Amino acid sequence: MLKTKPLENKDYELIKEAEKVIETNYVYGRHHIGAAVRSKTGTIFSAVHVEANVGRITVCGEAMAIGKSISEGEHEFETIVAVAHPHPHENIEKCWVVSPCGMCRELISDYGKDIEVIIFYKNELVKCNILELLPEKY
Ligand SMILES: [Zn+2]
Repeated sequence: MLKTKPLENKDYELIKEAEKVIETNYVYGRHHIGAAVRSKTGTIFSAVHVEANVGRITVCGEAMAIGKSISEGEHEFETIVAVAHPHPHENIEKCWVVSPCGMCRELISDYGKDIEVIIFYKNELVKCNILELLPEKY
């Protein structure tokens, strides 16, 4: 059982930013994930994932958002979220929140043991500490 917390208004704002960046920059086969991270100063950085033809070279949205934030001088993080954008053939209208992959769980926890991650869990949006998602971290 995960220890989760309900979302606050600022968490919904973070999800919106992740949606906005992928709705603006969606390209089939190139970019379909948007991520947004809130730094400890409250600034939001959002980015898309970068798909490569060789799948394992693909860079996740979370990594892109963290890298963008650090590049702008914000090194400490409070909350992160990623959303998936539907493909045209999927017949889905809205983006949905996706959990970070295993590599991103390692990455996120390297940059802060107290970072909260927004996930869809037991039929609702919640947030939880990154280490809840990564027992026995590397
Ligand atoms: Zn990932």
